[in-house]
Amino acid sequence: MSELPVRPEIAAAEPYGAPHPDVAVRLNVNENPYPPPPEVIESVARRVREAAAGANRYPSRDFPELRTALAAYLVREAGVPDLTADMVWAANGSNEVMVQLLQVFGGPGRTVVTFEPTYSMYPEYARNTFTGYRPGKREADFTLDPAHAIRHIDLNQPTVVLLDSPNNPTGVATPLGGIETLAEHTAGHAVLVVDEAYAEFRRPGARSAVELVGRYAHVAVSRTMSKAFAFAGVRLGYLVANPELIGYLKTVRLPYHLSSLTQAAALAALDHAGLMLGQVSDLRERRDRLSAALGAMGFTVAESDANFVLFGKFADRRAAFERLLSQGVIVREVGPAGWLRVSVGTENETLAFLRALAQIREELE
Ligand SMILES: *Cc1c(COP(=O)(O)O)cnc(C)c1O
Repeated sequence: MSELPVRPEIAAAEPYGAPHPDVAVRLNVNENPYPPPPEVIESVARRVREAAAGANRYPSRDFPELRTALAAYLVREAGVPDLTADMVWAANGSNEVMVQLLQVFGGPGRTVVTFEPTYSMYPEYARNTFTGYRPGKREADFTLDPAHAIRHIDLNQPTVVLLDSPNNPTGVATPLGGIETLAEHTAGHAVLVVDEAYAEFRRPGARSAVELVGRYAHVAVSRTMSKAFAFAGVRLGYLVANPELIGYLKTVRLPYHLSSLTQAAALAALDHAGLMLGQVSDLRERRDRLSAALGAMGFTVAESDANFVLFGKFADRRAAFERLLSQGVIVREVGPAGWLRVSVGTENETLAFLRALAQIREELE
């Protein structure tokens, strides 16, 4: 027992983090497998050098230049023409954006609703902000039934509804119509936060919840440069919402939370958005081929709009995880019992994974 006066719910918890062993084929944290191209590295270095020259000063607190660049990116990506810089906010990863949202809209005596299985960080944000956490459920195929969602919301009276779409760890997206149903139902009671960390991997034609922001002042959509944008190391997450909502986030953010070096690096990468996203359509196609290959091997595969695939079911998924690891391939032991999640890697990494899986399958049988 610690002598330190630790909050009991912190003392009882383990620090979050996927295992990070040094193996050849790392398909466990949904990173983009491609490093930034050389011209992007050049631009980042140039912008960061310029920013470093002014590092004696605090960075811009409201970073209008970066917000303008993010808005311009979203206008193209989400096909929403009337999106402006005052509707965009950013922080050190969308994780930080989420915590800021819960600091504003959650808190003691308040409740956040999610739908499980979903991102394993959500209960931690709730705990850290003293917000009650009440997960509803998803269907057997991991889709969200809006009627269940509405009943669950009515029952729990949350001030925040947090919906991950495409959802981690299943990959399953909620169609825009279902999200709009929830937006209608939560108006006047709760903030509806849609976590679109994997949005760029959605199937062509699928629509983004960014479309709803102009129509609903209580809808906020979070995005990140960590996944499709191949920039996980820089830590840049952002939010699209009504300017009034963003104004409240400014009240809780830490002073100068976004480093001038981070701002510079993100701006440089956004100058090359096309290049940074160059491999996304390849990854999407490879995702579909990976799903098909797993299906052909007899696995059940969740329908993915993300850069990973949830597959199963294993009688002993821990054994399967460990055998894959011993073959030099790390996947993620996450989601409902019996399932494993694999990120889409390079062509060679995906092949190495499928080969290892075929081999361990014989051993497990
Ligand atoms: C990876 C991921 C994020 C991104 O987090 P960052 O802090 O921006 O790196 C957000 N939400 C979900 C569901 C994720 O899987």
